[in-house]
Amino acid sequence: APELSPAIAAGEREDETTLRPRNLTEFVGQGRVREQLELVLQAATHRGAPPDHVLLSGPPGLGKTSLAMIIATELGRSLRITSGPALERAGDLAAMLSNLVEGDVLFIDEIHRMARPAEEMLYLAMEDFRVDVVVGKGPGATSIPLEIAPFTLVGATTRSGALTGPLRDRFGFTAHMEFYEPADLEQILRRSSSILGVDLHPDGAAEIAGRSRGTPRIANRLLRRVRDYADVRADGAVTRDIARAALEIYDVDALGLDRLDRAVLTALVRSFGGGPVGVATLAVAVGEEAATVEEVCEPYLVRAGMLARTPRGRVATAAAWSHLGLTPPPEVAG
Ligand code: ATP
Repeated sequence: APELSPAIAAGEREDETTLRPRNLTEFVGQGRVREQLELVLQAATHRGAPPDHVLLSGPPGLGKTSLAMIIATELGRSLRITSGPALERAGDLAAMLSNLVEGDVLFIDEIHRMARPAEEMLYLAMEDFRVDVVVGKGPGATSIPLEIAPFTLVGATTRSGALTGPLRDRFGFTAHMEFYEPADLEQILRRSSSILGVDLHPDGAAEIAGRSRGTPRIANRLLRRVRDYADVRADGAVTRDIARAALEIYDVDALGLDRLDRAVLTALVRSFGGGPVGVATLAVAVGEEAATVEEVCEPYLVRAGMLARTPRGRVATAAAWSHLGLTPPPEVAG
C-alpha cells in the first residue's frame, strides 16, 4: 500500500498483531468511545447476559478491528470474524450463525457491503436469535426456523450512512470513532517503538505523529519507514531531523497528506476553480473510485480544514489553496 493509505498492506499483518492493543487499558485515545463501551461491557458482565449489539463506525485504520477483539477479550468470550463481502448468500451467514456458542462475539467487518438477503436474515438473528432457513425451491419451498445461541454482534463500517434503517436500529450502541489527536498518536508510537525496539526520541515521535493523518495504522507504518532510514543512514536513533528526512523520501507532506489527498485538492482547485463540484466528478478527475475518495480521502481533508462538503458539492477552503502554494480567489479568502 502507498505510505499513507489506511488500507492494510501485505506483510503488515504480523506487526499488526504484535502492536495491537489487547485490552481497553492499552487502547489509547477515543476517550468517549472507551467510556461508553466500558459501561456497556461492565453492565452486561454484571447481569450475566450478552451485551447489546455494537456498531463501530469511522474511517479505516482507527482501530475498529482492535476494538472488536478487545470486546471479546473483556467479556472473556470467543471472537468469530467475517466480513460483509464474504457473506454473499444468506446460507453463508446461516452457517456462521448456527455455529455460534452462547455468548460468542461475532465481528462483521465492512458490514455495509453485505448482500441484501443476508442482511435480512441478520435482522431476525439479532432480534430473536433465530434464523429462517429456506429449504427447497419454487412453490414447494418451506422455511424452517432455527434457534441460534444468544450472541453479540459487533459490526464495523466506514459508511454508517450506507446501512439500511432496520439494520442500524438493531444495534443498541454505535461508537463513532474519531481521528486521533497528535498526543494520542505519540503515545501509540512510544508503545510501538518499545515493542519493536526502536530508539524513538520525543521530537521524533512528535514529527511522525503530526504526519500520520490522525490514524494509528499510518503512524505505525511511518515508524517502520523512519526506523529503516535511521538504521541505514544514521545510528538508529529516531530524532526529528531523521524523521523529517525519511518522510521526505516517502512523499509524506508536513500535514500528512498523501498523493491521493493532494491529487483531489489539486483537481478541485485547478480543474474546478475550487468547487463546488460533485464527488463523482472529482473522483473521475483523479482516476479513483468515488467510494475511495469519499470514505478514505475526504474525512481527513475535512478534518484538516482543507475541504468542505456542501449541498452543492465539494469546496476547497482557503487553507487548501495556500497548502498548494496558490492564492485563493477573493470570495474564498473572504
Ligand atoms: P480497518 O477498518 O481498516 O480494519 P481498523 O479501524 O479495524 O481498520 P485496526 O486494524 O484495529 O484498525 O488497527 C490498526 C492498527 O493500529 C492496530 O494493529 C494497532 O497497532 C493500531 N491501533 C489502532 N488503534 C489503536 C489504539 N487505540 N491504541 C493503540 N494502537 C492502536
